[in-house]
Amino acid sequence: MPTGKNKIIGIILSVILIVFAVGAFLSTDKETPEVTTEPTPTEETVTTPALPTNAIVGTSVEGRVIETYTYGTGSTTLLFVGGVHGGYEWNSTLLAYEFIDALEAGTFIVPAHLRFVIIPTLNPDGLFEVVGTSGRFIAAEIPPNDAHTTGRGRFNANDVDLNRNFDCKWKPESTWRSKVVSAGTEAFSEPEAKTLKRVVENENPVAVVFWHSQANTVYASECEAGVLPQTLAIMNAYANAANYNSVSSFDAYPISGDAEGWLASIGIPAITVELETKTSSEWQRNQAGIKALIGLY
Ligand SMILES: [Zn+2]
Repeated sequence: MPTGKNKIIGIILSVILIVFAVGAFLSTDKETPEVTTEPTPTEETVTTPALPTNAIVGTSVEGRVIETYTYGTGSTTLLFVGGVHGGYEWNSTLLAYEFIDALEAGTFIVPAHLRFVIIPTLNPDGLFEVVGTSGRFIAAEIPPNDAHTTGRGRFNANDVDLNRNFDCKWKPESTWRSKVVSAGTEAFSEPEAKTLKRVVENENPVAVVFWHSQANTVYASECEAGVLPQTLAIMNAYANAANYNSVSSFDAYPISGDAEGWLASIGIPAITVELETKTSSEWQRNQAGIKALIGLY
């Protein structure tokens, strides 16, 4: 009776299959909510921006802190510096804080292979002189018509122009437009310049962006050996994306001891982004510039 046996086996198999299918359907149905809810917190943890490492890396002549904000865990570091000229260029510090805010809010994501180190103000004494704080501030807190033309807040508390205190063609006196300015007693005589040197040596950035104001231009950098090829690439990428002019060699007036030139002398590409105004962070434009810069790394 092979046929009858096969029929019985067939029926038994069908029943088993149906039981399994119904079981699987019911269990899938039961587990569905768990499948969608359980992994969600993990995914959120992954996409939430990493908490910044906020460190005090130095102090100014008057003892105000100089801080770095660090984002990302990649092996390639980009360094951003605002407020070299303190309150005279307070919008460069405002820009740095807007960048920090975007990173902390997760609206600007650090690519996995990169790491951003941001110094919002290298000259906290100069910033304090104009803004009344050396920490975070909003533009509305700043007195109107202040310091934009006078140069107040540009220098550190020793009356030194920090961007003349670095080791590239350093001289005790240098120029700012038609004025003679103090460049310190020797290269890196000022605690703020020493701090930047230390940060660069510790972080070993592949490129450095300085924010200043105002010239509506991105400048390359050089010391004795000319402009590094990568510096030109960075300058062009940033300037094009942010819609600033670009100038590969600053020759408006002679400069010695600038931080960008010192970086060029040790083989680190650096650009100076001079914002168009003295009153706005120009964040949208600089966000585009930073993204173009990232595209090169
Ligand atoms: Zn400046």
